[in-house]
Amino acid sequence: MKTPNPYTVTNSDFTHHIDVVCPRCDKKALVKGAHLYLPMADLEEKVSFSCLSCGYNIKYANTPKLTVYVNSKGVPKYSRLLHLNTAIDPFFGFTLWYILEANDGILWAYNKEHLSIIEHYIAAPLRERNGLPHQNNSLASRLPKWVSAAKNRDYLLRLIARVRQK
Ligand SMILES: [Zn+2]
Repeated sequence: MKTPNPYTVTNSDFTHHIDVVCPRCDKKALVKGAHLYLPMADLEEKVSFSCLSCGYNIKYANTPKLTVYVNSKGVPKYSRLLHLNTAIDPFFGFTLWYILEANDGILWAYNKEHLSIIEHYIAAPLRERNGLPHQNNSLASRLPKWVSAAKNRDYLLRLIARVRQK
Protein backbone atom coordinates (compact mmCIF):
# COMPACT_ATOMS: atom_id res chain seq x y z
CA MET A 1 0.00 0.00 0.00
CA LYS A 2 1.26 3.48 -0.83
CA THR A 3 1.76 5.64 2.25
CA PRO A 4 -0.80 8.47 2.24
CA ASN A 5 0.59 11.94 1.75
CA PRO A 6 1.06 13.77 5.08
CA TYR A 7 -0.39 16.93 3.52
CA THR A 8 -3.67 15.27 2.59
CA VAL A 9 -4.50 13.42 5.80
CA THR A 10 -5.29 14.70 9.29
CA ASN A 11 -4.64 13.20 12.70
CA SER A 12 -8.35 12.48 13.01
CA ASP A 13 -8.12 10.08 10.04
CA PHE A 14 -6.36 7.62 12.39
CA THR A 15 -8.78 7.41 15.29
CA HIS A 16 -10.49 4.14 14.34
CA HIS A 17 -7.82 2.02 15.93
CA ILE A 18 -5.67 3.58 18.64
CA ASP A 19 -2.86 1.77 20.43
CA VAL A 20 -2.63 2.88 24.05
CA VAL A 21 -0.92 1.91 27.30
CA CYS A 22 -3.34 -0.03 29.50
CA PRO A 23 -3.88 2.04 32.67
CA ARG A 24 -4.13 -1.18 34.73
CA CYS A 25 -1.24 -3.31 33.49
CA ASP A 26 0.91 -0.99 31.32
CA LYS A 27 0.77 -3.39 28.36
CA LYS A 28 -0.32 -2.44 24.87
CA ALA A 29 -4.11 -2.18 24.62
CA LEU A 30 -6.62 -1.02 22.05
CA VAL A 31 -9.10 1.80 21.83
CA LYS A 32 -11.60 0.84 19.16
CA GLY A 33 -12.45 4.33 18.03
CA ALA A 34 -14.51 6.02 15.36
CA HIS A 35 -14.44 9.18 13.32
CA LEU A 36 -14.20 12.11 15.74
CA TYR A 37 -16.92 14.15 14.09
CA LEU A 38 -19.70 11.61 14.50
CA PRO A 39 -22.56 12.63 16.79
CA MET A 40 -21.82 11.83 20.44
CA ALA A 41 -24.54 9.16 20.57
CA ASP A 42 -22.78 7.26 17.76
CA LEU A 43 -19.42 7.58 19.46
CA GLU A 44 -20.91 6.23 22.69
CA GLU A 45 -22.18 3.22 20.78
CA LYS A 46 -19.02 2.50 18.77
CA VAL A 47 -16.08 3.43 20.98
CA SER A 48 -14.60 1.03 23.51
CA PHE A 49 -11.34 0.17 25.22
CA SER A 50 -10.02 -3.35 25.75
CA CYS A 51 -6.82 -4.90 27.01
CA LEU A 52 -6.06 -8.46 25.98
CA SER A 53 -3.33 -8.76 28.62
CA CYS A 54 -5.40 -8.14 31.76
CA GLY A 55 -8.97 -8.25 30.46
CA TYR A 56 -9.81 -4.67 31.44
CA ASN A 57 -12.45 -3.22 29.16
CA ILE A 58 -14.61 -0.11 29.16
CA LYS A 59 -17.41 1.11 26.95
CA TYR A 60 -17.20 4.79 26.13
CA ALA A 61 -20.89 5.15 27.03
CA ASN A 62 -20.03 4.11 30.60
CA THR A 63 -17.37 6.74 31.24
CA PRO A 64 -18.34 9.70 33.43
CA LYS A 65 -19.47 12.89 31.73
CA LEU A 66 -17.94 16.21 32.65
CA THR A 67 -19.64 19.48 33.45
CA VAL A 68 -19.11 21.59 30.36
CA TYR A 69 -21.06 24.65 31.45
CA VAL A 70 -23.75 25.88 33.82
CA ASN A 71 -26.74 27.42 32.07
CA SER A 72 -28.47 30.70 32.97
CA LYS A 73 -30.82 28.88 35.37
CA GLY A 74 -27.87 27.47 37.27
CA VAL A 75 -28.31 23.96 35.88
CA PRO A 76 -25.05 22.21 34.98
CA LYS A 77 -24.86 20.64 31.53
CA TYR A 78 -22.87 17.46 31.10
CA SER A 79 -21.09 16.17 28.08
CA ARG A 80 -17.95 14.41 26.93
CA LEU A 81 -14.89 16.25 25.74
CA LEU A 82 -12.57 14.86 23.10
CA HIS A 83 -8.84 15.19 23.71
CA LEU A 84 -7.47 16.37 20.40
CA ASN A 85 -3.96 16.69 18.97
CA THR A 86 -2.18 15.47 22.05
CA ALA A 87 -0.38 12.31 23.20
CA ILE A 88 -3.46 10.66 24.69
CA ASP A 89 -6.37 8.97 22.97
CA PRO A 90 -9.26 11.35 22.20
CA PHE A 91 -11.93 9.36 24.04
CA PHE A 92 -10.59 7.91 27.29
CA GLY A 93 -7.48 10.04 27.67
CA PHE A 94 -5.15 7.04 27.96
CA THR A 95 -1.47 7.46 27.09
CA LEU A 96 -0.67 6.55 23.49
CA TRP A 97 1.58 3.56 22.86
CA TYR A 98 3.64 5.25 20.16
CA ILE A 99 5.31 8.26 21.77
CA LEU A 100 8.76 9.47 20.79
CA GLU A 101 10.65 11.53 23.29
CA ALA A 102 13.01 13.65 21.23
CA ASN A 103 15.41 16.38 22.33
CA ASP A 104 13.07 19.16 21.20
CA GLY A 105 9.76 17.72 22.35
CA ILE A 106 7.54 14.73 21.78
CA LEU A 107 5.94 13.15 18.75
CA TRP A 108 3.08 10.71 18.95
CA ALA A 109 1.00 8.47 16.71
CA TYR A 110 -2.33 6.75 17.17
CA ASN A 111 -1.19 3.57 15.42
CA LYS A 112 1.51 2.12 13.15
CA GLU A 113 0.04 3.53 9.97
CA HIS A 114 0.01 6.99 11.52
CA LEU A 115 3.61 6.49 12.64
CA SER A 116 4.60 5.46 9.11
CA ILE A 117 3.23 8.67 7.65
CA ILE A 118 5.14 10.77 10.16
CA GLU A 119 8.25 8.76 9.29
CA HIS A 120 7.62 9.35 5.60
CA TYR A 121 7.26 13.07 6.23
CA ILE A 122 10.53 13.24 8.17
CA ALA A 123 12.35 11.34 5.44
CA ALA A 124 11.08 13.71 2.72
CA PRO A 125 9.68 16.88 4.35
CA LEU A 126 9.36 19.22 1.37
CA ARG A 127 9.16 17.11 -1.74
CA GLU A 128 5.67 15.86 -0.94
CA ARG A 129 4.18 19.32 -0.74
CA ASN A 130 4.66 20.03 -4.46
CA GLY A 131 1.46 21.04 -6.19
CA LEU A 132 -0.81 20.50 -3.21
CA PRO A 133 -3.02 23.26 -1.83
CA HIS A 134 -2.25 24.42 1.67
CA GLN A 135 -4.40 22.56 4.17
CA ASN A 136 -4.30 24.03 7.65
CA ASN A 137 -5.41 20.98 9.44
CA SER A 138 -3.19 18.44 7.73
CA LEU A 139 -1.02 16.04 9.66
CA ALA A 140 2.08 17.71 8.24
CA SER A 141 0.96 21.21 9.24
CA ARG A 142 0.33 20.01 12.81
CA LEU A 143 3.86 18.74 13.29
CA PRO A 144 6.26 21.08 15.07
CA LYS A 145 8.96 22.82 13.01
CA TRP A 146 11.87 20.89 14.52
CA VAL A 147 10.44 17.70 13.03
CA SER A 148 11.38 18.78 9.52
CA ALA A 149 14.79 20.25 10.39
CA ALA A 150 17.38 18.48 8.25
CA LYS A 151 19.78 18.16 11.17
CA ASN A 152 17.18 16.10 13.09
CA ARG A 153 16.28 13.74 10.28
CA ASP A 154 18.52 10.75 10.98
CA TYR A 155 18.09 11.08 14.71
CA LEU A 156 14.28 11.12 14.48
CA LEU A 157 14.17 8.24 12.01
CA ARG A 158 16.22 6.18 14.48
CA LEU A 159 13.79 7.04 17.30
CA ILE A 160 10.85 6.02 15.12
CA ALA A 161 12.50 2.71 14.24
CA ARG A 162 12.97 2.05 17.96
CA VAL A 163 9.43 2.97 19.01
CA ARG A 164 7.99 0.83 16.22
CA GLN A 165 9.62 -2.24 17.82
CA LYS A 166 7.97 -1.66 21.19
ZN1 LIG B 1 -4.24 -4.33 30.82
